Amino acid sequence: MSEAEIHPEIRDAVRKLCARFPGPYWRALDRERAYPTEFVKALTEAGWLSVLIPEKYGGSGLGLSAACAVLEEIHRSGANGAACHAQMYTMGTLLRHGSEAQKDKWLPKIATGEIRLQAFGVTEPTSGTDTTRIQTLAKRDGDRYIVNGSKIWISRAEHSDLMVLLCRTSPRDDKGKTSDGMSVLLVDMREARGRGLTINPVRTMLNHATTELFFDNLEVPAENLIGKEGSGFKYILDGMNAERILIAAECIGDGRFFIDRAAAYAKDRSVFGRAIGENQGVQFPIARAHVQVTAASLMVDHAASLFEAGKPCGSEANMAKMTASEASWYAADMCVQTHGGFGFAEEYDIERKFRETRLYQVAPISTNLILSHVATHVLGLPKSF
Ligand SMILES: Cc1cc2nc3c(=O)[nH]c(=O)nc-3n(C[C@H](O)[C@H](O)[C@H](O)COP(=O)(O)OP(=O)(O)OC[C@H]3O[C@@H](n4cnc5c(N)ncnc54)[C@H](O)[C@@H]3O)c2cc1C
Repeated sequence: MSEAEIHPEIRDAVRKLCARFPGPYWRALDRERAYPTEFVKALTEAGWLSVLIPEKYGGSGLGLSAACAVLEEIHRSGANGAACHAQMYTMGTLLRHGSEAQKDKWLPKIATGEIRLQAFGVTEPTSGTDTTRIQTLAKRDGDRYIVNGSKIWISRAEHSDLMVLLCRTSPRDDKGKTSDGMSVLLVDMREARGRGLTINPVRTMLNHATTELFFDNLEVPAENLIGKEGSGFKYILDGMNAERILIAAECIGDGRFFIDRAAAYAKDRSVFGRAIGENQGVQFPIARAHVQVTAASLMVDHAASLFEAGKPCGSEANMAKMTASEASWYAADMCVQTHGGFGFAEEYDIERKFRETRLYQVAPISTNLILSHVATHVLGLPKSF
């Protein structure tokens, strides 16, 4: 099925909303590294951030492909969904593994946007991608946990009321299952900040509201434990599949943005007395980008349909993220080249989108780690680590 056939009404409505937030809006924020509050408010009010929340909790109860359509269109318009995409999927850990009481308490407010759950705390400075080596420790003390440690690259922490935090509740057992002993806590940032939680913004090459976090005897009520103590790693894994597929959809949107812009410019710009797009040296990279983005888009649709059907999709989510992030990066580079010097000018938005789409070969999972997964889990090659 072509992209236009999947959720056309959603795409049309999101496009109209994004048209209210054109390039100058994003450029001004980018310069200041400021948060797109008005854009996020508009998406929230239109219900686009709660599409994955079941109707009984106030969301629209749609599947992952609907959320993919929303994010793809946001990115195709030149906007950046990274400011709020996690409001869509971080709640999945709570939805799939939380108690009925936790779901009743939080999900309806997350659905309306009254509560923002868009911080997901996994990465730590020393462990990097090797998640089982995280050191942030939550020690049970009666009816609370006492949390100590640190996290890095925790995006939107300053713009979130709750955070899904992965921490150790018992040390890593090198002889046993190394992923055992990790737990998921729902941290109320409003209560935690200044009372054991410090948030420091980290300025990066793109406007991403990312931060580092320090926990110094932070108290978290024991009732905020999601699922069973020690089983947290598996709770975050299915959330990670959703995250990878949705971010792949953002890459598809980015790729199409670059292709739209490059094709239009190549038809319009005249050098040596003819449109630059008449030269095959200019046409072919645009056509190649289209081929790659179209192929990656099919992979994203495939992974999303497996996820929606509740089938295993770890490998497909990874492959979708890798093919889409590489396709968008190729398209970004092609678009700069097609624009010549103007590709570097802020007012064209291409250099901004170029910086933004580069992230997705590193986060939320880097390409090497995906290749390692495919090599060992899909192809049965020996493990290297
Ligand atoms: C802007 C931004 C936002 C982010 N937001 C969040 C967030 O909200 N929450 C969160 O928890 N994390 C977040 N992250 C973290 C992100 O998920 C990690 O940066 C990413 O997973 C890579 O981990 P690392 O930076 O620790 O790299 P490392 O693990 O240190 O790896 C560095 C490089 O070495 C390669 N490498 C490492 N080990 C191997 C190996 N065995 N074989 C081959 N290659 C290897 C990696 O592929 C990578 O290219 C964010 C990161 C950024 C930059």
